[in-house]
Order: sequence, then C-alpha cells, then structure tokens
Amino acid sequence: MNKAYAFAVNGQSGEIVIRLSATVAGKLSYIKSVTIYTGEPSTTAKTNYHNHTYRCRHAGSYTDREYIEAAISNGYTAIGFSDHVMLPYITYENSVRGIYWESTEYYNTIRALQNEYQGKIDILLGWESEWALGGLFEDYYRYLVDNNLVDYLILGNHWQIFDTSSNRFIAPLEDEAHELENVQNYVAGAIEALDTGLFTIMAHPEIFFVKGYGNVQNFTPVMKDLVRAMCEKAKEKGVALELNQGYIDNMETLERYTEFWKIVKEVGNTVVIGVDAHYPGAYNESVRNRVISFANKIGLTLTMDLGITRKTPKNVPLFRLEGQYEPTDANYVAIAKENLTWGSIRGLNASENAVTLPLALPSSFRDCTVTWSSDQPEVISNAEP
Ligand SMILES: [Zn+2]
Ligand SMILES: [Zn+2]
Repeated sequence: MNKAYAFAVNGQSGEIVIRLSATVAGKLSYIKSVTIYTGEPSTTAKTNYHNHTYRCRHAGSYTDREYIEAAISNGYTAIGFSDHVMLPYITYENSVRGIYWESTEYYNTIRALQNEYQGKIDILLGWESEWALGGLFEDYYRYLVDNNLVDYLILGNHWQIFDTSSNRFIAPLEDEAHELENVQNYVAGAIEALDTGLFTIMAHPEIFFVKGYGNVQNFTPVMKDLVRAMCEKAKEKGVALELNQGYIDNMETLERYTEFWKIVKEVGNTVVIGVDAHYPGAYNESVRNRVISFANKIGLTLTMDLGITRKTPKNVPLFRLEGQYEPTDANYVAIAKENLTWGSIRGLNASENAVTLPLALPSSFRDCTVTWSSDQPEVISNAEP
C-alpha cells in the first residue's frame, strides 16, 4: 500500500510516499517509527542505543543511573538501554543474560528513569536480541513490540542455533572448513530477522569474524556476496547497521573489517555508532573519535538520531511459553489445581479454594512432601504421616 502526503514546513515543501508492506501472512504489521527530515540533518544529536546493565551478569555491578550520568556528562542527548534479551526459554542462572522473570523489574526500572530524567536526556528502552534460525523467538519479539513493552529492538545475532532440549544456544564450529557455513548461517539468520520488520538496528553486523561467533579469517568473494545481500535487506527494511565502539581495534587493523564496511558503503546503508557499554567508562570520547575517523576513511555517513520514540506500554502480562508459569506461590497454586497434585489435596480438604498460600510442591522426584496453608483454617486438614 502506497500513500502520498504533501508537506510544507518552514519554507520547504515536497511530497512523501509512505509504503506499507505485510511480509508475514496473518501477522500484524506496523511502523516502528517514521521520522521525516525536511532540512539539514541534526548536528546536535548525540545518541547511543546500545547500553547494557548489571542484569546480564557480565557488566559489573554499576547502577543504571551511573550509565545515564556518564552519557549526560559526555554530552549525549539520548541513551537507549538494550541489555541482552531475557528469553522465556532461559529461566536458569547464566553469564550472558538475566533470568527471564527479571524482565518485569527491568521494564519498570527503566520506564521510571525515563520519567525522572525527562528534559535532561532521552532514555529509551530496548533489548539486544538474538534471532534463532527458523524464527523460534519471533512470537515473543512480536509480543514485545506490538504491546509497546519496548521502544525498539536491536538485532544482536551472536549465535544462530538454539537447542530447545537444553534451552541453550549452540556455538558454531570454528575450524577453517566451517568458515563459509558460519557466514551462510549468520546471513540466513540475519535476513530472516530483518524481514520481520521487528528490528531497528543491527549491532556489530560483522561479528562472525570474531572468535566464539564464527571466527572467520578469510573473507572470500562468496562471503562478500552473502554480506552484500544482507546489507541490501537491511537497507530495504530501514534497519541501521552499527559501528561498534568495542571493535575499533579490529576495524583499524584487520583488512576483513575494512572490506566488510566498504560493502556497507557501496550498498548505502544507514550507519550508527554503538557504544555497547558494559561499564560507564565505555562512554569515551577518544574511542568514539577513532570510530568516526574510521567511518570517514571508508566514506560512511553516520546518522546520529534514528528518531526512535518512547512508547506507552500496554498493560499486558509477561509473554509466556505454552504451559509456562512465573514461579510465584499464586501460580504454583494454580498449577496444583490443574494437575494430579490437586487430586491428593482435594481428598483432604473441603474446598478447592481452601488452598491459598503458600503451597510447597515437591522439589525433586525423591521428595513427596506437599504442604499448604489457607486463610480458611476450618476447611484445612492435613494428612497424617
Ligand atoms: Zn554483553
Ligand atoms: Zn551489546
């Protein structure tokens, strides 16, 4: 669907065509945000959309406030929190991302900071999120975006394969024989993800060069063609590619990084700088200036402001996988009432509603103890051992 709008603002006039396309049958489509520039691009905006927090377990114990203050004192006009996405599949302790049930606290805390700092700095709320080949996380991400739980999503495609039997990502094999396959998987995953329209930025799009994420040493012509297709897809979908400050040493010294960004230049992608802060000191002007001079050397045009807007979240519960409950007493009672456990409790109690809180279910298969209590003690009876 194409629609043309005429505009006349501050002595400039013209026509804008807005093109809407639905690429996924039966799924909602939407516009992330539309920013129309009708003059010189802003030279005052200084943004960073890539900032982590202590919740990911590998970013120290700095407070959210310390990052915001570091951004303010370095002259930033906007900071986007994009911690490693908490995934409904990952409810165990790990060193990459928070446990899924902590998402509520992240949303509430960052939303409160948005209000508190209004007028001082724009704060945005997002995630840096992986895409599993095949689209395993798509419904979850769509739920986040459609319900305005986040303002934006970054595609941070560290790994491509997610194993649902262990609920873990599988790292790529990194010998020379697998280099092409690693780029093929990386690009295939990226194109699937970009096609959904769910993402605003693609972080460190050349991460497959890095050890642990593909370790590709020889950037062959076949790989370059794959990368070009990925960049063209990002351009088609309006997704900005990120020059990651953490990679500056590689960009300056390794030929394959230069070759990658030359393709970006040829395709004509929108490019942003990402601090990828895992500590407040990552807001560092001399590092940022080195990134800018790398961009200038390649001839890349940097966009400072992507026009991401703050959304009003809908009042919806956390996304859950089928049959998944947040581990609260209230939910355990609900689960017990739905399954066999309730059968044994019912035998002892006058009313299903007698069981309220707390309900302790067996914690292992050797433990057969079920205990419960009620605010209606007269209807509770306990089994004799
Ligand atoms: Zn990280
Ligand atoms: Zn990151």
